[in-house]
Amino acid sequence: MQTPGATAARYSYLFPIGYSNSSECGYCRQTRSGQSTKRYSYYAIATSLTPAFYQKLVDRCWRRSGSLLYRPNQKHSCCPHYTLRLDSTQFHPAKDQRQAVNRFNRHIVGDTYVRDAARLHPRSRAEVRRRHNVFDLIERIHEPEAEMLKSPPSPDHVFSVTLEPDTFTEEKYEVFENYQRKVHGESPDRISRQGFKRFLCGSPLTRETMTGPDGTERQLGSFHQCYRIDGKLVAVGVLDLLPDCVSAVYFLYHESIHSLNPGKLGALREIALAREAGYRWWYPGYYVHNCAKMRYKIEYKPQYVLDPEDLRWYLLDKEALALFDKEHYVCFSRRQEDRGGATGRQVVMNSTDAESSGPRPAPLPLPAGAQTASPDPIKNQEMSEASAAEEDDEDDDEEDYGEAEEDAFLLASNMPGIPSLQEMQQVDMNRLLLRSDFSNNLIVASHLVIWDTEDIANFGTLKSRIAELVAAVGPDLIGEFVIDFRKRSS
Ligand SMILES: [Zn+2]
Repeated sequence: MQTPGATAARYSYLFPIGYSNSSECGYCRQTRSGQSTKRYSYYAIATSLTPAFYQKLVDRCWRRSGSLLYRPNQKHSCCPHYTLRLDSTQFHPAKDQRQAVNRFNRHIVGDTYVRDAARLHPRSRAEVRRRHNVFDLIERIHEPEAEMLKSPPSPDHVFSVTLEPDTFTEEKYEVFENYQRKVHGESPDRISRQGFKRFLCGSPLTRETMTGPDGTERQLGSFHQCYRIDGKLVAVGVLDLLPDCVSAVYFLYHESIHSLNPGKLGALREIALAREAGYRWWYPGYYVHNCAKMRYKIEYKPQYVLDPEDLRWYLLDKEALALFDKEHYVCFSRRQEDRGGATGRQVVMNSTDAESSGPRPAPLPLPAGAQTASPDPIKNQEMSEASAAEEDDEDDDEEDYGEAEEDAFLLASNMPGIPSLQEMQQVDMNRLLLRSDFSNNLIVASHLVIWDTEDIANFGTLKSRIAELVAAVGPDLIGEFVIDFRKRSS
């Protein structure tokens, strides 16, 4: 009997929900009765997630909404969801982005400060020239912070940004309530403390500190990046800090700063954080091409898009965007193959499979994931300049699972990047760990009474539910997560 209690904290804990259609799509506002809507996703609940494990999930098209994890099927969707990421080390802010920062900084310090500071702390000519020629994002982002300012003179406003645990406070809720009601136009009876907590506080990610190769320390876990002006909380960036990325979950702000372009400033600050703290990548959340509100995300460049089938990253350049215009479902890897591309489709065996004893599972088209995530042989083409109707909307993904219905069998779904039933039948799930409702000990799946009698091909059986979760996460990650039945009733 295996009881790895000592290392239990290193596991992630998931409970399978299943593969289902969403009855309503907030992106195209079609309802299922309108025939065309189908938005299938696989869902699971996370009771605890290590940042390293969740990094692997986001690199396989997953995302979370509170403790609900989901992986959308891009093929069976009215609004296909694609994962994006931006390389912060290659990012150069566009003109409007630089202007937003400069305007905000000016608002904080004020004209008098600028004039008096120039007299009291004059910049050298070389410095003036450098600042004229180079826009250093990290320098400019931090410039208006109170502790960065030379004093005297005194700025008009005191500005600070702090990274705080993602716990609920009344102060944060007030900003959330104002944002949802005034900026989002949500009716007050739909806004609640409970909803705020469930969606944006107390994430299942564990919090830890990681030391990078250069010795710098990086925080990992879910955080609230809190923006305060004159001591008043005016904006909150909800962030998942993972080993290789700053993942933007949500950004909310008080209506009083609406004219200062808070969404843009938030994105730029997050990109600066990814760069200065060594996370490198910034994940702005899903990209839905047919949703105009999402276009703002791709104004930050260069951006890469995760291919749902080979799980590698492709530059989101003009050509890639043209594909999205032309085709509803875009598979970058297959297009490359069709054109006789060098890489073709990769079949990657993971080291855990190689090391495991017993019959080896057949190679699965899963997962290229993080290890092979370096940008492919892709042209370094500049994307078209910002679209004419520049919409500065910092709206983000809100997944309403509540309405999901219409269960289907993931292993018969032909969902991109998911092994088939036949492939799953080759996977050895015996050493999969489970945690029951009744005990704190972990048990191995092969000890379950039903294990030898049930067949994963029988949709609806416990074993088939477990196999769906393993398929959605990736069979190579067996050994990194525990199936957690403690939450079954909730
Ligand atoms: Zn839709």
